[in-house]
Amino acid sequence: MYNLFVTRPSRSYCYAWTMHGAQHEIGECAECGRKTLVASNINEDSFLVIEGGKKLPDFLEFCGVGAYLLVSSTVVDVFTENNISGYFVEKTIPLFTDVKGQMLKVDDIQYYSLKVTGTVDFDLKAMHLKKKHICKSCGHFDWSIQRLSIVDTKFDMDTWDQSDICRISSSPGHIVCSDKVVELINQRKLTGVQIQEEKDAFRIR
Ligand SMILES: [Zn+2]
Repeated sequence: MYNLFVTRPSRSYCYAWTMHGAQHEIGECAECGRKTLVASNINEDSFLVIEGGKKLPDFLEFCGVGAYLLVSSTVVDVFTENNISGYFVEKTIPLFTDVKGQMLKVDDIQYYSLKVTGTVDFDLKAMHLKKKHICKSCGHFDWSIQRLSIVDTKFDMDTWDQSDICRISSSPGHIVCSDKVVELINQRKLTGVQIQEEKDAFRIR
């Protein structure tokens, strides 16, 4: 498995962090007091506005990582042709650009939200990492090591549901993929995405 990062290398690619019409709400767990993020579902009224960058990428960066990927129609076609599993196409997301206060719809590329359904989890034993203070109510926990960037990550393949695209159950902000997806990204030169080795999930380049 590989760790897949949706990025904007050298800021040349466009990004749109805010999903308008589907704002996140911050709540607080009554049991442990930790802040909880409640993301509303992307709905019919949701749209994106380009916040920076020049070129339109195949993988568009936005802040709702984890459950969703925002990808171009090229990615949807490549994934469909090659029977990539672990996601479903939820809807098209209109993208706008602000030109001197006027909202213009971007028509060059159509973007879709993919909901990631595949799952895999870490092999915490091999990583010498433990979950501490697990909250019975919200499920939040602390890692036993504070500086996670020193930890080499490894997956427990018994927890893998065989999907090509997966979320890491213990760290749902990370999306990982199979060799097959990496080959397709390289072959078809899909842009706006970085691939990292399995051991580097906690290291951001
Ligand atoms: Zn809690």
